[in-house]
Amino acid sequence: MVSSSSIAIIGAGISGLACANVLKKRGIACEIFEKSRGPGGRLASRRLGEGTVDLGAQYFTAHDERFCHEVTAWRSAGVVKAWPGRLGICQGETIHYPEAPPLRYCGAPRMSALTRHLAQDMNVRVGCRIESLERQVNGWWLIDDKRQRQGPFSAVVISVPTPQAVPLVAPHDPALARTSEAVVQHPTWTAYAVFDKPLDDSLVAGGDWQGLFVEEGPLDLVARNSTKPGREPRESLTLLATHAWTQACLEEKPSRVADWLYQAFAARFTTRALPEPLVLSAHRWRYAKPSVSTSKSSGEDTAQDFHLTDTGLGLCGDAWRGARVEDAWLSGHHLGLALAS
Ligand SMILES: Cc1cc2nc3c(=O)[nH]c(=O)nc-3n(C[C@H](O)[C@H](O)[C@H](O)COP(=O)(O)OP(=O)(O)OC[C@H]3O[C@@H](n4cnc5c(N)ncnc54)[C@H](O)[C@@H]3O)c2cc1C
Repeated sequence: MVSSSSIAIIGAGISGLACANVLKKRGIACEIFEKSRGPGGRLASRRLGEGTVDLGAQYFTAHDERFCHEVTAWRSAGVVKAWPGRLGICQGETIHYPEAPPLRYCGAPRMSALTRHLAQDMNVRVGCRIESLERQVNGWWLIDDKRQRQGPFSAVVISVPTPQAVPLVAPHDPALARTSEAVVQHPTWTAYAVFDKPLDDSLVAGGDWQGLFVEEGPLDLVARNSTKPGREPRESLTLLATHAWTQACLEEKPSRVADWLYQAFAARFTTRALPEPLVLSAHRWRYAKPSVSTSKSSGEDTAQDFHLTDTGLGLCGDAWRGARVEDAWLSGHHLGLALAS
């Protein structure tokens, strides 16, 4: 007999927080367990002196009506702002700036401001990695990395990247573990550079640029963080590597990776020497983006974008819908609705 009506959520990324938000609105108690020092997951930012760099998602778009509604509320709360940035698309030697780019949004004053806002009235236990689950007659129990037992809970939501979900799920539902295993999460190296002075616009061919979709060789995307809304004026660049390049350099040192990506940027785009950055480093996302299509974001909500077993084991996150903030939020939101009903 399950003795608790409270729900445990493993992971305080955007999907876990979206799920928690639905439960909270329906008056269902939940407790969130997060292994990192704060919430956010792949909506991570780093403050470096007077500069801020986004390490994961650089911006997000909104298509789904429910998500658009949510974005409007976040904008009213001041934690999200539109980024009318000039992002160029690189084709060979040319850079093309679309006349009608999609509306892009960023967390303000940094990407992680959004998830901090969502987590502020939630019961989030940070620095707590959940290593295994137990199902007892009185409900679900979570075992953390200090061998402490948390519970009982009537249901458990696992909102972590699939490779991290598999060991938690496998002892209880081998078929669901196999389904999770089938979603590959590609890695991404993110390099970042902070400068003491603004970069001269004319350094990059075409000038007046705020981001570049490169999608070739080592570089996938370059973003100028200081051009994002509500940021400190300190110039900084985020340089995302392509999955293939990351895979080839997965075990390299962050300092070497940062050097290579910065040099690749300089060689590809600038005609003059780039200034020496005050800070140049890199962060590795071992599980950055899932190998799933984003077709559901265009409004084709045909398939279920989460899993929920009869025993109260739930899975949500971008793995079940698409590799984007909007998809992750929708997956968590839908699982929350299913649990609440
Ligand atoms: C480099 C990069 C660039 C991106 N660019 C964009 C972009 O421009 N636009 C866009 O829309 N999307 C982008 N994305 C994708 C977007 O960031 C993700 O789809 C979304 O943030 C995923 O959210 P999530 O809640 O599913 O997972 P996550 O954000 O990964 O959250 C999972 C959380 O679970 C925690 N966790 C894991 N295991 C455990 C455990 N055992 N116990 C406790 N906690 C645990 C993690 O620490 C993490 O906080 C990008 C992602 C990356 C990495």
